This record gives sequence, C-alpha cells and structure tokens, in this order.
Amino acid sequence: MKWWKVEKLYSDGKWLDTCFVNTDERGIIAKIQNEEPDSFESLGLVIPGFLNAHSHAFQYSMVGLSEHLPVGAKGDDFWSWRKVMYGLAGKINPDQLQAVATMLYSEMARMGFTSVAEFHYLHHNLDGKPYDNLGEMGQRLYAAAKEVGINITLLPVFYQRGDFKQEALPQQKRFISRTTVDYLKLLASLQVNDPLFSLGVCVHSLRAVSEGSVLEAFIDTDQNLPAHLHIAEQEKEVESCLKYLGKRPVQWLLDNLELSDRYNLVHATHLDEGENKQLAESGANVVICPTTEGNLGDGLFNLVEYIKAKGNFAIGTDGHFNLNPLEELRLLDYGQRLKLKKRNIMCLEGGQDSGEILFNATQKAGLLAMGIKDSRSLKVGDPFDVAVLNPEHPVLVGKAPKYLLSALIYSSDSSVFAGTIVAGNWVVNNGKHIKNREIADAFKKAQLELLK
Ligand SMILES: [Zn+2]
Repeated sequence: MKWWKVEKLYSDGKWLDTCFVNTDERGIIAKIQNEEPDSFESLGLVIPGFLNAHSHAFQYSMVGLSEHLPVGAKGDDFWSWRKVMYGLAGKINPDQLQAVATMLYSEMARMGFTSVAEFHYLHHNLDGKPYDNLGEMGQRLYAAAKEVGINITLLPVFYQRGDFKQEALPQQKRFISRTTVDYLKLLASLQVNDPLFSLGVCVHSLRAVSEGSVLEAFIDTDQNLPAHLHIAEQEKEVESCLKYLGKRPVQWLLDNLELSDRYNLVHATHLDEGENKQLAESGANVVICPTTEGNLGDGLFNLVEYIKAKGNFAIGTDGHFNLNPLEELRLLDYGQRLKLKKRNIMCLEGGQDSGEILFNATQKAGLLAMGIKDSRSLKVGDPFDVAVLNPEHPVLVGKAPKYLLSALIYSSDSSVFAGTIVAGNWVVNNGKHIKNREIADAFKKAQLELLK
C-alpha cells in the first residue's frame, strides 16, 4: 500500500485537482481522495502512460545509418532502407537483441511509454534454422521489457515468403514459418505467465503470407488475442496486391475477414475513400507511425475523413527514429494541417481541443493494440501506469487544465517528463531509468559488436 499526492491527475478523461491516490501491492489504484493521509510521496502532473502500438526493437541499433544516399545511387526510398535493415537482421544474436531492446524500452519509458506492442519477426538462428528453444528471440524481448519494467504485448510474426508468389530471399531466412502449423507452434512457444506480458497474433503483410494462411492465422487462433499486420504502407505493395489478389490490400481484408476492434492495421497509408470509410466503420484500429512513415517517405494517412467516420487510431514508433510520443502526435496532426492548409483539423465541433482528441483517441486505441480489455485511464481499479510531468515546465505553468494536454503535445519537449511509474513502481525517476548504468553498459557492448 502506498499513497501518492498528485498535483493534477488526468483520471478517466478529466483533470482532478490536488488529490491523494492509494495503490495496493499489485500497483492497482485502490482509492482516490481529497483527505491527506499520514504519509505520501508527492508527484506533479500525472497522466496515463503512453502506449506504443508498433515496435521493431532491433531496428533501434541502426538509427542514423541510412540517412545518406548510397554511393552510386540516384534516388532513395523504403526499399533501399530495407537493405540496410536486412544487414542488421542477418547478424544480431540473442544477447545483442536483448541488450538493444532493453536500452530501447528504457528510453521509451523515459519518454512516458508504459506499454509496447513488439512486432517480432527475427525468430531463427543466423543460419535460418530454429533455435533449440523455438521462442528464444521472443523470450529475449520479454526479458528486456521485464528488466525495464514496462508492459509488453509480444506479436510473433507469421512471415512465409518474399513477396506475392515469391520465395523468401536469403536475407529473410530468420523470419520464416513455412506453414500455419509452424507459425502456431512458434506462437505456442511464447506463452509467458506475467501480468506485464501478453501475446497477440501477427501476420507480417499480405505480400509475406498467402491468402489462405492469413485467414487461418487470424481465424483459427484465440479470438481474444489482438491481431496485427502491416498493410498498404507502400504504393508498390498496393499495385502488387491488385495484380495478385485482384483487390487493394485493405479492401481484400474487408471482404475476407470480419474486421472488428480486434484487428490492428499498421500504417494503412494508401487507402481509397471507400476503404477509409469502411475501415473506420468496422471498428478496426489503424496504427500510424508518423516519424517512421515520414523518414521512409511512405505518405500521409487520410486522418480527417477517418475521424469523421469515427475510426480508431493509435501511434507507434516502429523503426524508432524518434521515441517521444509527443513528437509522434504532433507530426500526425501537422502532416494533415500542412496538406489541408487548415488548423485544428480533427475538431469537428466548436469547443473541441486537438490535444485532448489526440491523447484520448490514441490511448483508447493503444489498448486495443495491446489487447488490454480494461480502460487504464487512472480510475479506481486501474493499474497505476503513469507518466509524471514536471509542473514547473514553462509551457505548463499557469495553464488552466483544459489547455494542459495541448500545451504538452504541441509545445513541450522530452524535458517535461519527470518520471514513469508502472504498476505502482518507479521505472524512471528524475529523468533516468533506475537501472540506467547496467543497461547502458550492455547496450554499448552490443552496439560496438554490431556496428564494427
Ligand atoms: Zn513495422
């Protein structure tokens, strides 16, 4: 049992003035009250922790390595970035993956994330053969999240082939499950009994898995598990899908699966009007990764029409060019404003606030991506998973509560994050992860090996 004094608490979508929060031994909120208890720890502004709905942990090792035009190249795009990424995927071992993921997750926690959905396809040994322990690499990712103390939804990826009607490339040999049965074995090897851990079902993309296997993976698995896939990120993928499946990728999903809020479509950048509307109405969730999509030159999701149709959307940091959720949210909105030459494009009625819309929508949909059924909005009964903000940060000082989320999202930087608490325990305090030194040493060793 612990008491926390909170200067301002964003609980269940409303700001509460100074209050006292009691957490039980599991870190669940047992009481929120105005009366002062005998002893307590003081926090500044407290909001629910951010939810990172799309991560490829190993890619954190290579940020900065693909920001130049390769010698002899005339242009650069997603596909040349993928070459650099495959170079790393081909050599990272379990110890190195764990060290990189631990550093990455500790940095996410420093930026206020308390949960991550890890889209994991580096399954096999360097020679492409399964490890003796089939789930070795996935278990290393869980170990990284455990060490850091954040919630992980592990999404073991079904990856079957190189492209529509094409065998896998040699560089993809670590990713491959040939059949649905192989994939289900892999999935079964990754069950962990821990409140911080949950599992999801995941298909890499329509190009990487045959139509029949996509349906089997999603239909023949526990319907309570969240389902994820990459979709319509690149125009080339849409063209190939039209050629081989006769439909645009999202249209194919809409026509072949009963999409619901179980489904998480990552990127969904290139949708036509009908797909956008039908997808929104299906209740499925789009996971938008603004800085990665920007870095890779993917394109812009049509958010305004999607919001008008009440579509769900979450954010992810994907390739980890950026780990600050505020920057993801800001870019998500600014991309639309720049395209439409308008302001507050998500506010459909007078009185609505862009910061509140962005925060509330991505928190709600982030839970769908994690497969978390409760609200996690800092009500009694919710875990105390929070980002603690510095109330003295200049952009927050003196602001009425109704302006705080917009001041935070549009105008603050990472110095606003004072700490992160998961299940009632400090994970990051005074801007540093509590195991910062050990994590940094192991990461440095791995990076020196990987980047030499
Ligand atoms: Zn991805």
